[in-house]
Amino acid sequence: MKQIIKNRGIILTTKDYKDNAKIITILLPTGLVNLLLRGTNKMNSGTKKYTLVPQEVDFMMTNSNTLSTFTEGYIINNFTKIKSEYEKTLVASVIIEKVLAFSNHIDNHELFYEFVKKILEILEMYDYSQVVLNLFEIKLLYLLGIAPNLNHCTKCQKRSGDLMLSLDAGGVCCANCLSNHNYLLNVDETKIFKYLYLIKLEKVDEKFLQIISDSKVNLSSFIDRYYEKYIDFSSKAKKVIKKIV
Ligand SMILES: [Zn+2]
Repeated sequence: MKQIIKNRGIILTTKDYKDNAKIITILLPTGLVNLLLRGTNKMNSGTKKYTLVPQEVDFMMTNSNTLSTFTEGYIINNFTKIKSEYEKTLVASVIIEKVLAFSNHIDNHELFYEFVKKILEILEMYDYSQVVLNLFEIKLLYLLGIAPNLNHCTKCQKRSGDLMLSLDAGGVCCANCLSNHNYLLNVDETKIFKYLYLIKLEKVDEKFLQIISDSKVNLSSFIDRYYEKYIDFSSKAKKVIKKIV
């Protein structure tokens, strides 16, 4: 007899599998899993609702050595606004792309699960999607072990004065230590980067996101180049968005 296991997870993506089924990829507190979901293309399908991503579900799965099956579920959070608001949908696609790409690089899966869940809840709840995306991407650097040093000048260790985040140095530098060829955030941009890095997700609210958004600081290019340089990652989802927008 097949063993049935109860689990909780966030369904992130789906793809077609044979005639009337899909493979769904779910983030669990133990990491990613691919499961078979049957009957998704039938009229009045009872399983089709699980193909709308993202969503957090309690579910049952068979425990198989090969491909396990998602048998039944209960939706905990459907992230309705993420699905219905265009900008939130696009930002979620960029977040999900990174979760799929990096989940296996992360040691603490339970922490990662809570992090992804909380970010999606923030994206669902508040406006300023672009700030939420920057928040996610900057905090993820820490979980990936490639966070920049933001406390003192990377070259001379000086802590005071105006520090600027340098791509080449992988951390902040003081004015004396900067060389011309560095790709940089200026002092104000560096401060915003640090706010986003340090804030606890429990403290993030509409007001905080609004203040960051009102600063008109755009960190996206720097963040993209940081991911390219330090983990050799270039977002396909962002390229698609740039073509659409
Ligand atoms: Zn220095």
